[in-house]
Amino acid sequence: MFHPVSSKVNFPQVEEKILSLWKENNAFERSVEARQGGRRFVLYEGPPTVNGSPGIHHVLARVFKDVIPRYKALKGCYTQRMAGWDTHGLPIELEVEKELGLSSKAQIEEHGVAQFNARCRESVFGYLKEWEAMTERIAFWVDLKHPYITMDNKYIETVWWAIKQMWDKGLIYQGYKVTPHCPRCGTSLSSHEVALGYQDADDPSVYIKFRVSDRAVREHLRKFGARPDLPTYLLAWTTTPWTLPGNTALAVAADAEYAVVEVGDEYLILASALLGSVGLESYKVVAKVNGSDLVHLQYEPLFNPHRYGVERRHMSPGLPLQEPVRDLTYSIIATDFVSMEEGTGIVHMAPAYGEVDYNAGVENGLDFVHPVDLQGIITGTYPFSGKFVKEADPLILDDLKSRGLLLRSETIRHTYPFCWRCETPLLYYAKQTWYIKTTAVKERLIAGNEEINWYPEHIKYGRFGDWLENNVDWAFSRERYWGTPLPIWRCESCDKYECIGGVQELESKPEFSGLLKQLLDLHRPFVDELTFDCPECGAKMRRVPEVIDCWFDSGAMPIAQWHYPFENERLLEDGRFPADYICEAVDQTRGWFYSLHAISTLLFNRPCFKNVICLGHILDARGEKMSKAKGNVVEPWAVINKYGADALRWYCLTASPPGNVRRFSEGVVAEVTRRFLLTLWNVYSFFVTYANIDRFTPSPEEAPSSQSELDRWIISELNQLIVDVDTALDSYNPTEAGRKIESFVDYLSNWYVRRSRRRFWKSESDADKLSAYTTLYQCLVTLSKLLAPFTPFLAEELYQNLVCSAFPEAPDSVHLTDFPVADKGKIDQRLAADTRLAMKVSSLGRAARSQAGIKVRQPLAKVLVKVGSSKEREGLRRLMPQVLDELNVKGLEFGDEAEFDKPGYSVNSEGGYTAAVPTEISPELQAEGLAREIVHRLQMMRRSAGFDIADYITTYYQGEAYVRQVMEDFADYIKQETLSRELIEGTPEKGAFTESYKLGNYDILLGVKHLD
Ligand SMILES: [Zn+2]
Ligand SMILES: [Zn+2]
Repeated sequence: MFHPVSSKVNFPQVEEKILSLWKENNAFERSVEARQGGRRFVLYEGPPTVNGSPGIHHVLARVFKDVIPRYKALKGCYTQRMAGWDTHGLPIELEVEKELGLSSKAQIEEHGVAQFNARCRESVFGYLKEWEAMTERIAFWVDLKHPYITMDNKYIETVWWAIKQMWDKGLIYQGYKVTPHCPRCGTSLSSHEVALGYQDADDPSVYIKFRVSDRAVREHLRKFGARPDLPTYLLAWTTTPWTLPGNTALAVAADAEYAVVEVGDEYLILASALLGSVGLESYKVVAKVNGSDLVHLQYEPLFNPHRYGVERRHMSPGLPLQEPVRDLTYSIIATDFVSMEEGTGIVHMAPAYGEVDYNAGVENGLDFVHPVDLQGIITGTYPFSGKFVKEADPLILDDLKSRGLLLRSETIRHTYPFCWRCETPLLYYAKQTWYIKTTAVKERLIAGNEEINWYPEHIKYGRFGDWLENNVDWAFSRERYWGTPLPIWRCESCDKYECIGGVQELESKPEFSGLLKQLLDLHRPFVDELTFDCPECGAKMRRVPEVIDCWFDSGAMPIAQWHYPFENERLLEDGRFPADYICEAVDQTRGWFYSLHAISTLLFNRPCFKNVICLGHILDARGEKMSKAKGNVVEPWAVINKYGADALRWYCLTASPPGNVRRFSEGVVAEVTRRFLLTLWNVYSFFVTYANIDRFTPSPEEAPSSQSELDRWIISELNQLIVDVDTALDSYNPTEAGRKIESFVDYLSNWYVRRSRRRFWKSESDADKLSAYTTLYQCLVTLSKLLAPFTPFLAEELYQNLVCSAFPEAPDSVHLTDFPVADKGKIDQRLAADTRLAMKVSSLGRAARSQAGIKVRQPLAKVLVKVGSSKEREGLRRLMPQVLDELNVKGLEFGDEAEFDKPGYSVNSEGGYTAAVPTEISPELQAEGLAREIVHRLQMMRRSAGFDIADYITTYYQGEAYVRQVMEDFADYIKQETLSRELIEGTPEKGAFTESYKLGNYDILLGVKHLD
């Protein structure tokens, strides 16, 4: 006997029961250990930062991470998988700053770096319990007991080792480069971080006048009849007024035409092509010149830095400081990046604030003026000093306006990079930063990508491939506190640098001092205390102040999770590297996917993952990004508590291909529950209920081939399903696999079980009935195994009840079984096609009936059918009983066009197939129809009265003569269908359950009573 299964089910409750079962018998650990010795299958877990609650997008990723290793385990692979937590970096620091009420680096240092970092260490795991609970609840099977943690000393030591390898290859350098800088966080961002934070923003769009100081120009203009006493200005455009104090040149296009125009009582110079677009109301062109004619012209800076206490350097090696000059002028240069699409054709250059400007400054030997500090505050004694740059913008414009140097000012909406963590606008600064020379291995990065399978495929040469093609060196140092310290020591005296690749190496340095032996923390400020003697000059070597980008931490996890090479030194040969599979959302192409690939290529000259599923973003039901501010975040817990984890998993895996952007709401989970999980549950409940009534016991031996076409068909479909699911999962396509399962379950429920109901229902046990049980049993057990990677709870529920209860020697969890193997000999394509045709014709026939308003319970004489070929006729003839039964007709005939045109038929066609039913009903058929209606009512009454399916009853009826006649004529049929021992005409006995109906034109009173 199986445990009784009600058709009403509370999935979350079932799942909680299964969770305790797994915990009790260590199902996860055993599912891994049982496969030791099998081929390794490696998942790298991309470590989440756990200082916030897991969201629905985390669940999505974790479900996709789970399904493939589960499948591989069933296929016999050894699938150790380690959880990991990302614990360093700005997000953590920001949270702690907020908590402690600190708002700048100066305040952090005042507070004390040791205390600050101690707080970071505590806060890292603020939500760890919730993450573990969620991971467990959704059945993401990963080793939570032995996770890798990026802040552990061992982890840090491997990261140091990795950096040292790169240092030894000459791949790490300190560059004076313009980097995207977050003034709030006080640190540079790498280009992949910048790519994460573009937003639309309103900025000033201003036209600025730079006064020409050259006499020669005025003399030249005189030739065109211009008045030498009027001032002449070069017109330039900018959206960042705060960079204007840093202006040290103007750039033109040498071969473009520029116009000198008279406006009021002054002259303006700008590109002829842009004359119409700068908003001049009236002007007169007095001269036209080439850009090359303007080169080397001198103009007066808007703000002479010397007057505001700001230093001026020259852009030659060492950036030498320049003497103050009272009448400072700058010159015009020619470059090839001047746009004739927007602006004025004259570009304002501030080498301190932009990579292009900086490079042009080096090339042309310009001046370098940088009056902004690392917090984004204007230095010096300008009227707007002490202000944050964006707040200084309007003050700068006021100042220029008061001096008549502002032609026009408006605002522009454009895309601008913001800090991906704190949403402060990024500023582009020239400053010293440590770089990894990834460009040195660019070709290897690209070649390595060839070996990676991307799902979806377009990422390979699209998003990821482009990113590699446009590779720039990795600015990987951070001027922060809570991170892996950059293991580079610098001599105070002779400027020698050394990189340290491990703790032992550090301790063995000459005159090493510090407390490392007792010190168990490799973080700041403790590592900052560790010094040793310079091998060159004997002076003290101290660590540089920077920590590293936390993307380097997570990208080093393939080796750092194993403390390689200090432990597990055979890691690269024993199958644990590279990973077979990783999976994250698409924004990781420039994040973790890239850092993994870059580090692995730099260290080992090869990629570290073979297959990657790249998930699209999750939006809300209306297609908007979920955010706390908008209040449209769907909490995963709420969904899981209501529908269960399997429902959410099934939605994630099958609703849309992984790479697509998806719209999520509670409704979509309700829908998959109804459409799939409940359909399957009903089949399961149906089977168990009837199998228990008939005391069906499954046999371990294989069932003999059934005589029933239905059985042979569903077994054929089942074996085809095994092949399809196996193939799809093997090619990292769980969505396709899941959808195949879903359509099989639809066949099973809506054709196989429906068409087989009578076989289970009939009271005698014979070979046909046994064959139906055996077939349905096989389908459900196989489904439980196929579903194990997708809906591990439901799969386990089925397996426990159907298999474990009957076969005590079977593996005690579905997750310890082997993936089913298809018996391809049982796949009958012809039968599959014929059955599809029978379903098709049935569906056309049902539509023809409903068109004519004839209920399915009313038997009809025949259905007239047209199909495509003689082969199809033959197939349909073979399956005729199924169609007759489904359509409740007495015969099936093939007809041609002419017959369908005759009156008296309701006709329905689709795609070359037609089914028609006669609309005339004979008195005999009418009587039979009434008998069927009565049976249907009695069956409903049995349910309403709460009788068991196998209970015998007495039936009472009252009605006019016709009704009595039908009851008598169809007495055997009615008794059999309703398990009635007797049909008694007259008032129902006391205690009977009664109802009155009007069936067609006839009134009838029915009563049912339980037989004691
Ligand atoms: Zn920031
Ligand atoms: Zn030295």
